[in-house]
Amino acid sequence: MKRKETLLSTQPSQALDIDDLDDDHVATSYETPLRADAFEMDDDLKMELIAKHFREIMHILGMDLTDDSLKGTPNRVAKMYVKEVFSGLNPKNKPTAKLFDNKYEYNEMLVERDITFYSYCEHHFVPIYGKAHVAYISSGKVIGLSKINRIVQYYAKRPQVQERMTVQIANELKKILKTDNVGVVVDAVHMCVSSRGVGDTNSRTGTAHFSGKFSDENTKKEFLNYINTPNNLNGK
Ligand SMILES: [Zn+2]
Repeated sequence: MKRKETLLSTQPSQALDIDDLDDDHVATSYETPLRADAFEMDDDLKMELIAKHFREIMHILGMDLTDDSLKGTPNRVAKMYVKEVFSGLNPKNKPTAKLFDNKYEYNEMLVERDITFYSYCEHHFVPIYGKAHVAYISSGKVIGLSKINRIVQYYAKRPQVQERMTVQIANELKKILKTDNVGVVVDAVHMCVSSRGVGDTNSRTGTAHFSGKFSDENTKKEFLNYINTPNNLNGK
């Protein structure tokens, strides 16, 4: 990876001080921290309650909610949270992946690169967006390419920490494809870094997870070389 970026470790961090978590963007676990009763409330009730509380936040900020431009915002935000940007919290929205036999006996690396995703930093609730690059070597089964994209979107659509998202995507693919031969690289911009705090508009964050054959230097290099090749297919 040649770009200006910080390569974060995806190893579990130990002895975390909670106060250090927010601006350092450290995750406490690879599981999204959800309560056991997270989905006892249905989506409609969630939207109603979020709209109510968001209206309150806007009101506290001093905004005039009778203004035509602001009136619909609480409902709009609530719908966007539940049905779109955080829809990946709900396991019922998890993509079901159909496996196919690897009929062509293609035993080389398959890379799906430049998967655009939009997520949200769970420490600031502002966007993280970027590209995910995913690769695997088949153990005899393959999945449709669009499925890889959907798995990335599912894990992106929740309050996230980039390292956790990287590992969650890798673990899901390992489970579905029944192989450890999976590599995931995520290159992202964090709005909480670019638009506030240190205000660094140029920095990007890279995270990676390599397992199975991807722990092997040559395989890893082949994957990284491929994703770093300029994309000439659509003029970028
Ligand atoms: Zn943040």
